[in-house]
Amino acid sequence: MLQTLKRSITAAAQRLGLDEQTVDALIQVDKTHQFDIRLDSGQVFKAYRVQHSNRRGPYKGGIRFHPKVSLDEVQALATIMSLKTAAVGLPLGGAKGGVAVNPKELSAADLEELSRKYVQGLHKHIGPTKDIPAPDVNTNAAIMDIMVDEYQKLEGDRRQASFTGKSLNKGGSQGREAATGRGGVIALKKFLDLSGMSKQPVTIAIQGFGNVGSYFALTAQDLSPTWKIVAVSDSQATISSKTGLPITKLLAHKQAGKAFKDFKELAPDTSESIFRQQVDILVLAALDDALNKDNMTDVKAKIVLELANGPIAEEANDYLLKKGVQIIPDIIANSGGVIVSYLEWQQNLLSENWSESQVNQELDMIMNQAVEAMYHYSRQHKCSFKEAALSLAIKRLV
Ligand code: NAD
Repeated sequence: MLQTLKRSITAAAQRLGLDEQTVDALIQVDKTHQFDIRLDSGQVFKAYRVQHSNRRGPYKGGIRFHPKVSLDEVQALATIMSLKTAAVGLPLGGAKGGVAVNPKELSAADLEELSRKYVQGLHKHIGPTKDIPAPDVNTNAAIMDIMVDEYQKLEGDRRQASFTGKSLNKGGSQGREAATGRGGVIALKKFLDLSGMSKQPVTIAIQGFGNVGSYFALTAQDLSPTWKIVAVSDSQATISSKTGLPITKLLAHKQAGKAFKDFKELAPDTSESIFRQQVDILVLAALDDALNKDNMTDVKAKIVLELANGPIAEEANDYLLKKGVQIIPDIIANSGGVIVSYLEWQQNLLSENWSESQVNQELDMIMNQAVEAMYHYSRQHKCSFKEAALSLAIKRLV
């Protein structure tokens, strides 16, 4: 991921005519923090925080708890955060953190100790005007609440603006949970509008029905009732219906802890069949590299919306572009989460609590502007939307 990212940044920067020194500075990270976390039980875990760039504002980015966390991965994700905040025009930089741990193997007490010790190792380098972490894979509002509490104990800061993605009664924001899926709907709506397709009925298939995929589907029903969601998948099955799926019922099925393979009334097919669906739009909301050289020729959709991070491998990206498929890139399409994190941080700094409709209005405005800028740049410079988003981000960072 880090190598692919460095190649994309270098290529985009060279197209912009930037010299080698500027390109190197873009790839370079500002600071890397690495330390061991030793639990009272004796277990030791590697912990990281990479601060890529604060040229546009305080560092911003999630904390991941996962056994595969490595310095290279954290560095790549930190760089992506700088590009994402710049691509959507937020006054924030980019960072990422992680601990190489399987949190499912820890007791609740160990998980709390790990979270507190992560903050103890970093508190001098983070904070409301320095670096504002948030949840990522396997971390959540409860963990952010613990981390804010530890930060307050160590630094005496009562503003709650040191972390975002907190629970509502601890300074979290309305609308945060749905933000990435909702942002995806806003981005797609604007894109169809700019492409002159907003009046046409469209059919949609969604890979992944977790937080992002399910909120995308629910919000789409609300904001775009003419869109027809005809297929959704999880890691084991795809379910489809030409007349449109019962989204609320499917969500209740998932929330009851059941998999799509057990939704027998709609004859589940394999998970991979999601790519073969005859639809206008394919939404990728599951994993990185979901579309790759093995399945890229299956895609029938004319538009792909990247809601997961890096869901299309380089080779598949090139193949789809040659085929004329339009790809709405992750750094714009899935930025709803960081946009609402930014709004949460603002509310904390101002000691305010905004209503859900106010948060959604702000999200709408920021996302619409970002898609519009990307779209026009791409038309003006005759490049893909991914190249356009990256170029805009790099220009702003430089
Ligand atoms: P999640 O864990 O809630 O959901 C992931 C879903 O993907 C699950 O339903 C899982 O069953 C499904 N899945 C896993 N493997 C699959 C496969 N092979 N085929 C089909 N489905 C599969 O995660 P999430 O928060 O919804 O995140 C999804 C993606 O979006 C991730 O790449 C994440 O990094 C990215 N993302 C999330 C946010 C956010 O705010 N949650 C923000 C930006 C980007």
